[in-house]
Amino acid sequence: MPYCMYLRKSRADAEAELRGEGETLARHEKLLTDFAKQAGLEVKVIYKEIVSGETIAARPQMQKLLSEVSEGLWDGVLVMDIDRLARGNSIDQGIISQTFLYANTKIITPVKTYDPTNEFDEEYFEFGLFMSRREYKTINRRLQRGRIASAKEGKYVGNKAPYGYERVKIKDDTGFTLSPVPVQAEVVRNIFEWYTSGIILDDGTKKRIGTSLIARELNHRKIKPVNGDVWTSQTIRDMLINPVYIGKIRWNWRPAKKKMINGKVVVQRPRNKNEDTILCNGIHEGIISEDVFNKAAQLFGNNKSCTIRGDKTTQNPLAGLVICKKCGKKMQRRNNPQNPDMLICPAPTCNNHASYLYLVEKYVIDIVKRWSEGHILQYTSNQFPIQSDYDYKSELSAISLSEDKLNSQLNKAYEAFETGIYDAETFKKRSTALNNQLKEIQKKKKSLKDNIKKIIENEKVISEFIPKAKEIAGSYYSVTDNYRKNEMLKEIVDHMDYIKETRGHGHEEDFVITVYPKLPDVYN
Ligand SMILES: [Zn+2]
Repeated sequence: MPYCMYLRKSRADAEAELRGEGETLARHEKLLTDFAKQAGLEVKVIYKEIVSGETIAARPQMQKLLSEVSEGLWDGVLVMDIDRLARGNSIDQGIISQTFLYANTKIITPVKTYDPTNEFDEEYFEFGLFMSRREYKTINRRLQRGRIASAKEGKYVGNKAPYGYERVKIKDDTGFTLSPVPVQAEVVRNIFEWYTSGIILDDGTKKRIGTSLIARELNHRKIKPVNGDVWTSQTIRDMLINPVYIGKIRWNWRPAKKKMINGKVVVQRPRNKNEDTILCNGIHEGIISEDVFNKAAQLFGNNKSCTIRGDKTTQNPLAGLVICKKCGKKMQRRNNPQNPDMLICPAPTCNNHASYLYLVEKYVIDIVKRWSEGHILQYTSNQFPIQSDYDYKSELSAISLSEDKLNSQLNKAYEAFETGIYDAETFKKRSTALNNQLKEIQKKKKSLKDNIKKIIENEKVISEFIPKAKEIAGSYYSVTDNYRKNEMLKEIVDHMDYIKETRGHGHEEDFVITVYPKLPDVYN
């Protein structure tokens, strides 16, 4: 998509002109044109605000620009600095920032690029001259609601088109739809055909192939996927069950969920069925027939390694927790009609002996009881130092100081560019060098902040561990649901190693098990 440029005089510029410093807009136009050339941006239209009004209402070019941005015409807008877009009136600032946010349009200044598509782009919030994070969240929620409404109308609401399509603006309406890219659509048809009816081999026969072989074949043919350099079987799997290819719109399929794992917040997109998923007929045309799609879905369902396990029906309270110390596989429950359930290693050649599940369970609960009595703490204090005496505050302020310094150097370079002391090339060199240093510093700052966060989280995890163990030890046997039991154990048990060398009557409890508590790793 193309870019446009917006030029506006500030009051200071107007005063400088009166002092005879030359025409501002012409100078800015030249500077930004040079800058765009250096950055490889194609500028299609230049808006020049002749009047010097501060509000949107008093700025006809700004009104035009905003209506075009909201239609999604521009990938980005170049301005000398962010103040040229909005200053002062906070309602106007809100309107402008929301318009850019909704349209996913970048704001590009010679110093920085603000990218609203990247919700983790800290710099975007600096554009929050404007917006607080809370406002952003509100807008984001509204944006989500708008997206749901659009999806129900059959519009395509994702930022990126799925492989096989490109995203196009809907004529005479807001929003986007998909249009097939012929070369890619052919690849999609191939994928479905190879999976459902087969690929033609050298000897002329046809053979069905699975997702890994499909990925390999595409890589072999040097066909590029949308993301990354190579196809993976996961990509193929996602495509085979994506109803977009039969002309449907699916939204909210795998919403990101935040989860605490080992005291860290991890964002995952679970592949489960989601109740809030919207599936409806899209405006766009399909690439493959429903018959082929359904056939793929059926084959996909038969393929055991692809099916989703119904976690809620687990009958094994230790599911996923016990590792065979001999071969590294996860131990499983085996149902036994005559005797109690067994815990076995699923590897056919492994010679680790099985045990009664309830005996292992009892052993684990005994350990949890000991943890709840505080025995974990001695172990904890040696193994997991809490670095509360660590002086991160002064380190953080030192980093912030050098960040400020770099920013002021960057401003000086910008001034030199603006006043014509630097040409575009010199400015590019200088600002790139400074920006790189700045990124380095910001990375350091982020990792320091992460560390501080980790320390605080770790302190919390450790302080909560014993009470949690107490609670679980006390209530475990009153819970009848195995899924719930499993959840409880997973709150405090990271995993356990299991080994048993002897078998037979009298050796039922001869297993050796190490239970690892779910406590933070040693800091690096
Ligand atoms: Zn094993």
